[in-house]
Amino acid sequence: MFVKALFSIFLIFSSACILIGAGTTIKPYKNSSKIESLLNQMTLDEKIGQLVQYSGTEPTGPEGKIIDIETEIKKGKVGSLLNVIGIKNIRKMQHIAVKQSRLGIPLIFGLDVVHGYKTIFPVPLAMASSWDMDAIEKAAKIAAVEASASGIQWTFAPMVDIARDPRWGRIVEGAGEDPFLGAAVAKAQIKGFQGDNTAHFSTVLACAKHYIAYGAAMAGRDYNNVDMSIRTLWEIYMPPFQAAIDAGVGSIMSSFNDVNGIPMTGNKKLLNTVLRDRLGFKGFVVSDWNSVAEMIPHGYAKNRYQAAKLALDAGLDMDMVSDVYQQELAKLLKNKQITMKQIDKAVRRVLKAKFDVGLFDNPFIYFNEERGKALVLTKEHRDAARDIARKSMVLLKNKDNLLPLNKNIKTIALIGPLADNQKDLLGPWCARGNKKDVITIMQGIKTVSPKTTILYSKGCEINTSSTKLFKEAVDAAKKADVIIAAIGEAEDMSAEAHSRADIDLPGVQIQLLKELKKTGKPIVAVLMNGRPLTINWTNDNIPAILETWFLGIEAGNAIADVLFGDYNPSGKLTVTFPHSVGQIPIFYNHRQTGRPHIGDDNHFVSKYLDIPNTPLYPFGYGLSYTTFRYSDIKLNKKNLKSGETLTASVNITNIGKIQGKETVQLYIQDLFASITQPVKKLIGFKQVTLNPGETKEISFVIKPSNMEILNQDMKKVIEPGDFKVFIGTNSIDTKFAKFTVNEK
Ligand code: BGC
Repeated sequence: MFVKALFSIFLIFSSACILIGAGTTIKPYKNSSKIESLLNQMTLDEKIGQLVQYSGTEPTGPEGKIIDIETEIKKGKVGSLLNVIGIKNIRKMQHIAVKQSRLGIPLIFGLDVVHGYKTIFPVPLAMASSWDMDAIEKAAKIAAVEASASGIQWTFAPMVDIARDPRWGRIVEGAGEDPFLGAAVAKAQIKGFQGDNTAHFSTVLACAKHYIAYGAAMAGRDYNNVDMSIRTLWEIYMPPFQAAIDAGVGSIMSSFNDVNGIPMTGNKKLLNTVLRDRLGFKGFVVSDWNSVAEMIPHGYAKNRYQAAKLALDAGLDMDMVSDVYQQELAKLLKNKQITMKQIDKAVRRVLKAKFDVGLFDNPFIYFNEERGKALVLTKEHRDAARDIARKSMVLLKNKDNLLPLNKNIKTIALIGPLADNQKDLLGPWCARGNKKDVITIMQGIKTVSPKTTILYSKGCEINTSSTKLFKEAVDAAKKADVIIAAIGEAEDMSAEAHSRADIDLPGVQIQLLKELKKTGKPIVAVLMNGRPLTINWTNDNIPAILETWFLGIEAGNAIADVLFGDYNPSGKLTVTFPHSVGQIPIFYNHRQTGRPHIGDDNHFVSKYLDIPNTPLYPFGYGLSYTTFRYSDIKLNKKNLKSGETLTASVNITNIGKIQGKETVQLYIQDLFASITQPVKKLIGFKQVTLNPGETKEISFVIKPSNMEILNQDMKKVIEPGDFKVFIGTNSIDTKFAKFTVNEK
């Protein structure tokens, strides 16, 4: 049976807390050479304890049995806790571990600090749309500063799963559909979380998740099976994990899904051989919530006893909440089903992580209320949140330059369920974010354009069928010069366990837009959502559309900055927006068919009868309030030998009237190869800011590694032949040039 475990420590927390400051005397462990001597002193129970993680009072998965956590910690039978609320509670648990357990091994405290701790930044999919790696790194760094000042040493982030299916709710937690961009974002986030030294008290250990292919859940339904070619696994899903490992990520979380029939929690080949031997991962692997036990409903393990063996054999070091390791490992050892060597290996990895984050030097260093107060939700952090929120928005449509709005506009009708909404703007996985700290769009407009009169009406709820507020909204609209419609999804319509089969605007929001349109007033649609939406009607009928995702606590200010032109939008989509759910999976870097549909009327080509092949908005797409003109591409050579580099350059001119920032994208295509290649593959990008009339040359060095493919033997090779290089403003609107790679 599927046993779920919630180990509530709430009641136990209600007793008085023991305050221990950073100066408390503790047994110092100077360096990791101590791991072996510690291991020698540990009993089997204590070793198994290090491999066990329980949850606190805010479960992030199915709830279950209650255990007396304090007693377990005293016995040395707990290695880590997640979801413990409040620095006092965390400190109390740590005190028990360090002072009252036999060996005083500190606990490591984890939390999903995904896009901020208290200063909530835009959701990851939004931040990726900024294509600004420095800003992404900074957001992770601030999140680490705030979390570590509040007792957390370990974040279950970044989520580096590639997602090509917008039905899958967790698309919001990652960087989108592209492996190259995903790798760059993963690296920036890990640098931000871990800094140069994970032992420093203002950094946290990162956890790249969910290994692997979780984003390819069949039909976009969360936790569903994954059936995937090994080629796609390596070409598309592995690169961000490889980048995370190269960036020194301390831990990796295995995923819930199976890959081609083998659940990842017990997938020895992928979790051990590939992850450690091939990708070179040196840290420890934690399971996902209860996933060791979930190998039973998967039909892979007969019972918990077998599940424990499969997981340990696969190289899974820490069991998140299922309690299977706690209950079964000793029995398995006794029955010679596993070895002490295996247990020691896992324990070593967990202890090493604890050393690496400095817990053995000072287990209380992370619990300093003063530091917490001084460092959390500061003005500087809020400013950074506003900065990246501005950069994360994507302008999807701007007919006749309706945007930016003039601050002299007298009256705005601000309509929609997200117009004066705090809770949803935080987005999912908002750690300790508080909706009270969120600036709504209404507040933002009041600050940025104080002279504008705002006529507010909610219009409807996000996801109900009631139209009773329509009349009030339409009345307000009739009195205004322009309508701003803040519409979209609720924060709990994306992320874990929140897949959708229909991904248009929920509820009666389109009907509301239709009623507003009848007023004849210009409408700006401000979208908030955690996934691409199939907004065909909106695209066809509403003149200006701004994709804002969920922007976090500074959402309202940042949105007003863009609406009124204090910031010229520069975000670009990192996921394709389909016209229809029927096109999914749809992504820009697909292979070509033998019968491609290239603008002809031939019946016998790869196409739909009822919708186009092309997306509503392509990968890399995003408008600006200015226009950039691209020159033709200059190559420094058209013929090169295999192994040589090449330089491709374009001149970009701002031909509009205001300053703007452009993300210049570089793609490649190997035209003929022993394995058919994607029509385009992102291999670089650069951001450039240009004043009106200004031109800058942007050059890219194309390295041999950019020309490599995985051949039929799954080896990275450059196959001599013809290539195309593309440079452009998105994955469709590009210039191209050809070059030839010759034998060495
Ligand atoms: C999620 C993980 C998360 C974990 C701990 C799981 O349900 O899949 O992403 O890190 O819970 O909260």
